[in-house]
Amino acid sequence: MPGTVVWFGHDLRLEDHAALSFAAEQDGPVVPLFVWAPEEYGGWAPGGAHRWWLRQSLEALDGSLREKGLRLIVRQGSSLDAIRDVLQATGADRVAWLTRYEPTLRQRDIGIRDALAGDGIRCHQFAGRLLHNPEEIRTTTDGPYHVFTPFWKKFRKQVEVGEPLNVPRLGKSRAPDSWPDADSLDDLGLTPQQQDGVDWAGGMREFWQPGEAGAHDRLARFLSVAHTYDEDRNRPDLRHTSELSPHLHWGEISPRTVWTRVNAWVTNGPTREAADSYLSEIAWREFSYHVLHAHPDTPTEPLKDKFEGFRWRTTPSDLEAWQRGRTGYPIVDAGMRQLWALGWMHNRVRMIVASFLTKDLLVPWQEGAKWFWDTLCGGDLANNTMGWQWSAGSGADAQPFFRIFNPVGQGERHDPEGAYVCSWIPELADLPTKWIHKPWEAPAEVLEAAGVTLGETYPEPIVDHAERRDLAMERYNEIR
Ligand SMILES: Cc1cc2nc3c(=O)[nH]c(=O)nc-3n(C[C@H](O)[C@H](O)[C@H](O)COP(=O)(O)OP(=O)(O)OC[C@H]3O[C@@H](n4cnc5c(N)ncnc54)[C@H](O)[C@@H]3O)c2cc1C
Repeated sequence: MPGTVVWFGHDLRLEDHAALSFAAEQDGPVVPLFVWAPEEYGGWAPGGAHRWWLRQSLEALDGSLREKGLRLIVRQGSSLDAIRDVLQATGADRVAWLTRYEPTLRQRDIGIRDALAGDGIRCHQFAGRLLHNPEEIRTTTDGPYHVFTPFWKKFRKQVEVGEPLNVPRLGKSRAPDSWPDADSLDDLGLTPQQQDGVDWAGGMREFWQPGEAGAHDRLARFLSVAHTYDEDRNRPDLRHTSELSPHLHWGEISPRTVWTRVNAWVTNGPTREAADSYLSEIAWREFSYHVLHAHPDTPTEPLKDKFEGFRWRTTPSDLEAWQRGRTGYPIVDAGMRQLWALGWMHNRVRMIVASFLTKDLLVPWQEGAKWFWDTLCGGDLANNTMGWQWSAGSGADAQPFFRIFNPVGQGERHDPEGAYVCSWIPELADLPTKWIHKPWEAPAEVLEAAGVTLGETYPEPIVDHAERRDLAMERYNEIR
């Protein structure tokens, strides 16, 4: 009997899912499959926050499929073994999936495709994770782009973003005669263990709703506040960005759906500038994948070779102070605490904390990338690599190394009332706004009145920014 296994990965949705729609159009049953195979990610297995998210998202996908008369078969172990086993158990003769672009997964998929072809199984791959095919956008000399603006111009000229596909018609009649064995979600060990009675996932649970419905809710929320996205996107105190990154990472909503909804929204009043500004951020995601595809070693190696000789200094206590949000620089600490609590951080603050780690503390960007990978719900190999290499000055279209963010100036500019800092560092909440980004400069009586004792209730700055700026420039001049 013919039938199609739909192999889900980072595309945990029903809408605008070309592989699922294809399966629905073929004869025979549709068998949705997810394989938990962390060892196949080549050193970038989903981190702690990812795993928490994945567990909820798989549950949500299974729920949506059950409403359509199907279910999600979850397996752990080798992907190829699991696919072969499910094919055999159901008699299906095809496998369909959305193309993955992470270098290791891409190679794995090629191997699986070849092995299945050898078994006489037809494999069908579809686009859906990105809006462009990284091999199709090329410079005039037939190479990849390394600068965003010309990439974006070419993208707008060449890529036509079509309408998203509807959720396909399915139903009980599309289920196999009997469902193959599945592992239970509990067996995958995705839920973080409570440490010393602390519920690490509590903040994430409160803030997020993983799954396709949650992604659509986030988009709707964003469209109701985003009229000023172009002006306010740098204000971490306002929550005027879309907060869609984990949903996009897990593919609970497609970039095509986001793109078309934002375009449609413009006709309801908001300015073209606000929409274009947002679409260009979606295009940064495309650009990140474009660069990763052309330079698969960049998650660990600098794109600009000269940075191989940069003299970093990994001081474990500095790294730990940064990770725990105890550097004594309030905007940095607020960002790191937001990350720990929510598995997400505002983009402007990501840039500030990354500059602080790599330039004030001179800790290699790879350490920051690893920490983000473990703590972000939407840690994304392409975007994370782009963000860290951009911040360190070693990547594509990177911020020049000599632009070293001053954490006090950045805080005052982008969190002018200090509301963001106060929400994540309650121990500073009673300080007057004037001192909130530089408590060490506040007069003793002001600190006392606010209940702040530096070094006790909140740390002294662990480094002097001006001195560290000079040291960073010395190190940079060595490789220039
Ligand atoms: C050091 C550093 C690390 C980062 N790590 C990640 C990561 O692991 N995963 C991740 O998705 N983004 C990462 N980013 C990019 C960006 O910070 C986040 O995508 C953004 O903050 C997510 O919030 P949002 O969804 O509200 O963004 P919005 O402003 O609403 O943007 C919409 C979407 O566009 C994409 N986008 C926005 N900015 C960028 C960007 N600079 N580069 C690539 N795509 C972008 C994201 O998919 C985002 O969800 C990183 C940035 C830096 C500086």
